[in-house]
Amino acid sequence: MATYKAPIRDMQFVLYELLNGDKINELPGFEEATRDLIDPVMEAAATFSEEVIFPINRSGDEEGCKLVNGEVTTPKGFKEAYKQFCEGGWSTFACDPNYGGMGMPKSAHSMVEEMLCSANISFGMYPGLSFGAYHSLHNFASDTLKDLYLPKMVDGTWSGTMCLTEPHCGTDLGLCRTKAVPAEDGSYAVSGTKIFISAGDHDLTENVIHLVLARTPDAPAGIKGISLFVVPKFNLDDNGNVADRNGVVCSAIEHKMGIKASSTCVMNFDGAKGHLVGDLNKGMQGMFAMMNRARLAVGMQGLGLCEVSYQGAVEYAKDRIQGRSLSGVKHPDKSADSIIVHPDVRRMLMTMRAYTQGARAFGAWVSEEYDYSSNHADAKRRAEADEFVQLTTPVVKSLFTDLGFECTNLGMQVLGGHGFIRESGMEQYVRDCRITQIYEGTNGIQALDLIGRKMPDKAGRNLRRFFHPVQEYLEANMANPALAEFVQPLSKSFIRLQQASGQIATVGMSKPEEAAAVASDYLKLFGLVALAFMWCRMAEIALEKQADDSSGFYAAKVKTARFYMQKLLPQTSTLFATIMAGGSTLMDLDEDQF
Ligand SMILES: Cc1cc2nc3c(=O)[nH]c(=O)nc-3n(C[C@H](O)[C@H](O)[C@H](O)COP(=O)(O)OP(=O)(O)OC[C@H]3O[C@@H](n4cnc5c(N)ncnc54)[C@H](O)[C@@H]3O)c2cc1C
Repeated sequence: MATYKAPIRDMQFVLYELLNGDKINELPGFEEATRDLIDPVMEAAATFSEEVIFPINRSGDEEGCKLVNGEVTTPKGFKEAYKQFCEGGWSTFACDPNYGGMGMPKSAHSMVEEMLCSANISFGMYPGLSFGAYHSLHNFASDTLKDLYLPKMVDGTWSGTMCLTEPHCGTDLGLCRTKAVPAEDGSYAVSGTKIFISAGDHDLTENVIHLVLARTPDAPAGIKGISLFVVPKFNLDDNGNVADRNGVVCSAIEHKMGIKASSTCVMNFDGAKGHLVGDLNKGMQGMFAMMNRARLAVGMQGLGLCEVSYQGAVEYAKDRIQGRSLSGVKHPDKSADSIIVHPDVRRMLMTMRAYTQGARAFGAWVSEEYDYSSNHADAKRRAEADEFVQLTTPVVKSLFTDLGFECTNLGMQVLGGHGFIRESGMEQYVRDCRITQIYEGTNGIQALDLIGRKMPDKAGRNLRRFFHPVQEYLEANMANPALAEFVQPLSKSFIRLQQASGQIATVGMSKPEEAAAVASDYLKLFGLVALAFMWCRMAEIALEKQADDSSGFYAAKVKTARFYMQKLLPQTSTLFATIMAGGSTLMDLDEDQF
């Protein structure tokens, strides 16, 4: 059942009761981000998501994008919705005020991203990509390029893309073949084919600004010879306005499983005029800045789809009547009870609920630390926050999108056969979610990033940024009988995580393949412990407040926390066993035995 109401109450709980959202305006640069401002902004984002883009989610899926005479068109209603999006100032939300942005913190921006993705993930792709491109230019481009491109990207007049992938070059970007030949005027002529380019072409904006990875003729081989270029669809005249067409065209759009209203383009660059962004051969630096932020945003896509699927499933489960409750008839006035009385339906709903709310809390914590890493007055605190964000980014991307796929599948299952039928809207969430596990670096690659780069980095200091707060929390609360049912399972799973981390660190030094073989299991173990930590803290707050709360909000939190601890967290025991079993059984079979 397609239904969506932005979970504002839960978002406020996370921002202001669990975290320090009401103090974010104490950070230099975020002075305006007071609760008085953020709350109405969140309400407005909710209205936009519920009333403008949610109604065109299914029609967008049915109609898809089209390529006509070399130009891509988006489905009916997208242009108008995008116009409203820009008029509402949403494109400027988290951008630098020096270029027309509102300069709002990431912690609030992530919540807005979640709403957009719940309501219409395809629509959210367009501003999402633009924001990533903005971020790279903002961090790495010269002032001249920034002045030229950023104001119109910030106000949404122009959109952005990231052009990395080529037919033979996906995960391994060192294989990139696109060429950038220097011209006499200091620009570059960019030639090559990029595939799978989201928002590569469309009819929402006046210009499309591509950020393209390419190599100059004498660049070193591999990843060290890759540079980043900005290549507009339309060249700019001396006043920075759109002029003649540049040598870049969309030659095809992909027909795909989901996110059908987001254009996925094959882009041909044929001597297109571009400019270097950042230093020569340091293109990956610029791309990584964009990708890290984008990875957190993809995590929000997974979370957004968990939420909307959960809401659809709950509505249906209350409405649909089949069979009778095993504990006695619940609705004697009806010919059967609502399916929400059945334990197996409850299993699905509670799983979706516990993952969604736990992930929202963890994602918000990471976003808040992101704000500290960029804006805290104390350099040491900034560095610590950055270490935390570095460590947790692959977990957010991978865990949330895996949970997104699991939850959207459960959501479909709750509707039985009706879930499989397009009309219900539930199968679209499954299809839309599937790509989130693949792009922005597959989830397998996120796991390798976690164990191979983020964990060993700085002699394990990143890891301590997560371990220390958990350890401190456990020490402070271990003896509290009121919290025992939450703290003890957290403690047990945390010990498993510590032991698994030690095992991977030891093995990783001498046998990297062994460590790589258990990376995905380790990332999930890490993620489940992180959610358990959030559930402990949420339960603690809710236990204190539930007696005075007639709405039932806090009581429901405590019950959901209990479910998470007893029914979902025990998976850490299996994951621990598979991690300790190592990787030899994966590699034993000879290639020709497959
Ligand atoms: C709808 C859609 C939108 C996209 N949008 C964009 C975009 O806007 N811009 C852009 O540049 N790209 C985009 N992509 C491309 C996307 O990022 C890539 O598909 C993805 O990074 C994986 O690359 P690949 O498809 O070439 O798979 P491959 O790299 O060939 O990987 C195939 C499999 O092998 C695994 N694998 C590969 N290397 C390793 C390794 N070293 N260790 C372990 N496992 C490995 C992968 O995890 C995967 O399971 C998009 C793709 C799609 C489908």
